[in-house]
Amino acid sequence: MHADTYRHRGLRRSLVEELRRKGIRDERVLTALATVPRHLFFEPGFQQHAYQDKAFPIGQGQTISQPYTVAFQTALLNLRPTDRVLEIGTGSGYQCAVLLQLVPEVFSIEYNRVLFETTRRRLHAFQLPAHLYCGDGSLGLPAQAPFDKILVTAGSPAIPRTLLRQLRVGGALVIPVGDESTQRMMRVVRESEEEFVREEFEEFRFVPLLGQAGWQK
Ligand code: SAM
Repeated sequence: MHADTYRHRGLRRSLVEELRRKGIRDERVLTALATVPRHLFFEPGFQQHAYQDKAFPIGQGQTISQPYTVAFQTALLNLRPTDRVLEIGTGSGYQCAVLLQLVPEVFSIEYNRVLFETTRRRLHAFQLPAHLYCGDGSLGLPAQAPFDKILVTAGSPAIPRTLLRQLRVGGALVIPVGDESTQRMMRVVRESEEEFVREEFEEFRFVPLLGQAGWQK
């Protein structure tokens, strides 16, 4: 049931080559994607889709992000082994598992209770040391702040100030920002207590970030 076979490992190597051709250069990130068995984050009937470079429905109207997007966002975080990381939008738990290849500890928050419960069981079964929370991640996780890196895996209408305030000086927020159809990937680095520097990257298509600092529905 939880098998990771020679065939799966081969499919992952091919996927990683595809990501390399598409421009992902960070070898540590590529190694992380070559290691995490993405098919085990899919429902059993859909595992054959896991090694295409595509987003896929995970229920509750949500998706597991495309591997290219996971690799792109993870590379932008420029993770150091001691980083304390917050992910907003746990979803299937796949991105969280990729992050855990690069740092020892990840905090991750999911808004949808059904997904939260399913993913909590999954990550527990894989014995992954993730700290999982159910709630409105658009407000961050003030009780556990500050973080070195914050990663938002849903599309936000703006950069939530409350997330910037939860960054350590020198830390960075990676977040897709735009309207409900496309979002531009942004990285905001906290240079000092009051100074933030923003960089913009390519456009993506995410499900919406809900909640107080996201889209209110
Ligand atoms: N990182 C996920 C993975 O690896 O499967 C994919 C995330 S999916 C594209 C976006 C997720 O963000 C959905 O599971 C959605 O329920 C969640 N979400 C949306 N708004 C949220 C919020 N305010 N706080 C936490 N999670 C939120």
